[in-house]
Amino acid sequence: NGSVPGSPAKPPPSPSPLRTSKLVKNKLRVLVTGGAGFVGSHLVDRLMKAGHSVIVVDNYFTGTKSNLKQWLNHPDFELIRHDVVDPLLVEVDQIYHLACPASPIFYKHNPVKTIKTNVMGTLNMLGLAKRVGARILLTSTSEVYGDPLVHPQTEEYWGNVNPIGVRSCYDEGKRVAETLMFDYHRQHGVEIRIARIFNTYGPRMNIDDGRVVSNFVAQALRGEEMTVQLPGTQTRSFCYVSDLVDGLIRLMEGENTGPINIGNPNEFTMLELAETVKQVVSPSASFKTVPNTPDDPKQRKPDITKAKNLLGWEPKVLLKDGLPLMAKDFAERLDISYEPSTA
Ligand code: NAD
Ligand code: UDP
Ligand code: UDP
Repeated sequence: NGSVPGSPAKPPPSPSPLRTSKLVKNKLRVLVTGGAGFVGSHLVDRLMKAGHSVIVVDNYFTGTKSNLKQWLNHPDFELIRHDVVDPLLVEVDQIYHLACPASPIFYKHNPVKTIKTNVMGTLNMLGLAKRVGARILLTSTSEVYGDPLVHPQTEEYWGNVNPIGVRSCYDEGKRVAETLMFDYHRQHGVEIRIARIFNTYGPRMNIDDGRVVSNFVAQALRGEEMTVQLPGTQTRSFCYVSDLVDGLIRLMEGENTGPINIGNPNEFTMLELAETVKQVVSPSASFKTVPNTPDDPKQRKPDITKAKNLLGWEPKVLLKDGLPLMAKDFAERLDISYEPSTA
């Protein structure tokens, strides 16, 4: 259409008449894909409490209706069973595009489906954003940095990713999703936001999804040994879910496209994480070492300078304070009695 490559095209044509409602009441119609999942359901809580009208689409692969039970009968809430690989026709002002399994055991379960979700799902949501003139935020991931050769990771780092490994459906899938976002922005003027999320934990995580924090907390509560994958010195930096959701909303509402790292820069080895779970969840907990999986990144820690400067955001919840909140939720779901440790 004659637009210069590399420069954003003209904004889409006239906004739909329905959008005027936002000028009057500041109430937005917000679509959350993957909203029945862990992060999505906490985001929906915040958006509903802010008075917006929320549509969730989810195929329930790893999410559940019960994560949203508090909103099911609310007049401003709608839940649609839908797979983002298929086109979607709704009229909204903002799209938080989260739909994608996030835990390695789930995204490796059907890798072809994972890459379809990332590529076709993101394409469909961008087509939707273009048609209705909505702003769209993608929840990308620290996995785009692969097994990083730069530490801590800044947004400028292009990553060290194996294109043909068992994690590629997820990390290369998200990289293509980011590419699509920027191409729709440059070519069609779609308003985009990209968050690169680092490991996040909290209530409503899938108990058996195999991620390290959920595994250790569930194992400690069940009186099982925590499974530290070798060597145990690999690191991750864990962000509590309320901090993450705060960062996502600031990014959506702000003026920067990103990509912006959203994560907690406090870095722990897996052995240190096991020790912390023992201290704050169950003093009688113990651990054993087990083999690791292929392509496991050795270290990961976000540089959040951009988030601090551009969004005025930084995480507030310490691991030792967030873990007991998650353990309380897990204990209720597992029907195990639990008193936070004062050790
Ligand atoms: P989750 O598995 O709890 O939630 C994902 C949701 O997407 C689920 O409800 C699932 O049913 C749904 N979904 C999956 N495929 C779908 C499809 N094809 N169509 C419709 N719905 C589909 O995971 P989460 O931890 O809440 O992650 C949410 C987003 O954040 C994901 O995009 C993930 O890549 C990203 N992220 C999460 C983390 C983390 O530590 N939790 C880290 C980095 C990035
Ligand atoms: N799409 C969608 N909802 C919409 C508009 C588009 O799901 O409201 C899908 C559409 O089916 C297509 C994708 O988004 O597969 C990309 O749409 P776009 O209009 O950018 O491309 P085209 O349809 O011209 O290939
Ligand atoms: N891990 C572990 N024990 C487990 C599950 C995972 O020690 O029971 C380790 C794993 O080797 C990796 C880290 O925890 O180094 C984070 O793994 P997770 O699957 O939670 O997330 P990701 O690899 O996607 O960061």
